[in-house]
Amino acid sequence: RREENRRTAHEPCRTADGTRIEVLANLGRVSDAPGAVTEGAEGCGLLRTEFLFLERQSAPSEDEQYRQYQQIADDLGGRPLVIRTLDVGGDKPLPYLPLPKEENPVLGLRGVRVGLREPELLRAQIRAILRVRPAGVCRIMVPMIASPAELRTVRAMVDEERARLGRAEPIEVGAMIEVPAAALVADRMSIVADFLSIGTNDLTQYVLAMDRGNPHVAAQLDALHPGVLRLIRQTVAGAEVLGRTVAVCGGAASDPMAAPLLIGLGVTELSATPAVIADLKAFIRTLRIADCRRIAEMALSLDSAEDVRRLVTETWPDL
Ligand code: PEP
Ligand code: MG
Repeated sequence: RREENRRTAHEPCRTADGTRIEVLANLGRVSDAPGAVTEGAEGCGLLRTEFLFLERQSAPSEDEQYRQYQQIADDLGGRPLVIRTLDVGGDKPLPYLPLPKEENPVLGLRGVRVGLREPELLRAQIRAILRVRPAGVCRIMVPMIASPAELRTVRAMVDEERARLGRAEPIEVGAMIEVPAAALVADRMSIVADFLSIGTNDLTQYVLAMDRGNPHVAAQLDALHPGVLRLIRQTVAGAEVLGRTVAVCGGAASDPMAAPLLIGLGVTELSATPAVIADLKAFIRTLRIADCRRIAEMALSLDSAEDVRRLVTETWPDL
C-alpha cells in the first residue's frame, strides 16, 4: 500500500467528494527540502528557523539567513514556503541573546515576545525573508501570538523593512494560533493576519495546562481532546468571516486519526512531517466531507481524547 501511495503522492489532494486539501511539509533544516518534495509535499507550511540560531556563539547574519531561505525556496521549486520567525525562549537559550532566567519559561519570553524585545534580531530575519526570489513564494508566520496588536507591530516592521529594501510587492503575514486567547479572538486576528496556522503542540499544552516538556504529564497531551477541538472550530469560525485560510502545522497534522476531524472542522491545509505525506494524502482521498463534518461534530461533545480516538477508529477501521 505504501508504495502505491507514493506513486500518487505528487498529485494534488482532494477528498472523495472534491474538497481541496493542501498537504505541505514541516521543515527544520535546509537539507530536508528536496526529500519533502519527493514525498509529495506541496510546499513548506512551517519552516522552523531555530536551526539557524541554535548551537552557535553569535546570531546568523541577514546574508547567511537569506542564502539558506533562498536555497530552500529553490529546492521547493516555486512551491510556497512559510517561514516561521524565530521561536526561542527561556527553555532554548541562545548564548548571544540576553534573556532573564525564568521560573516558568513556557509562560515567559518566547516566540514573538523575544522578537519584540530584540527587534533588530527580528528585523534582520524579516529582511532576509523579503529578499528571497521569486517574490511571492515566501510567507512570514509569527509564533506565540496572543493578541492582534502583537501581529500589527510585526506587520509594521515588515512594511518598514519592505520600504527600506524598496520591495514593492506585499508579503503575506500570518499568525500561529497556539495561545488559547488567539484562538478565541480569531475573528479579530483575521483582520490583521493574512492566514492562520494552528500549532497544536503548544495549543494543546496551554489548553490542558500540561507542560509538553514535563515527563509526568507529557504522555497525556493529546490534541484530540474535545477542548482543543472546540478551539480549532472557533479558530475556523473566526477566520471564515474574512475568508482567511486555516492551516494546522502542529503534530496533529501528521496524525492520520486527526485528519478527518480537522477537515470536518474546516481546516484546508495540513503541514506534516515529510515521511507521512504520501499516506496522509491517500487517506484524505478516501474521505467524504459530510462524514468528516458529522464525526467532528460528534467529537466536540465527547468527554476525552480517548473517546474521540475510539469514535474515529470505529468510523475508519482501516486506520
Ligand atoms: C506547535 O506548537 O504546534 C508548533 C508547530 O510549533 P513547535 O512545535 O515548533 O512549538
Ligand atoms: Mg509552537
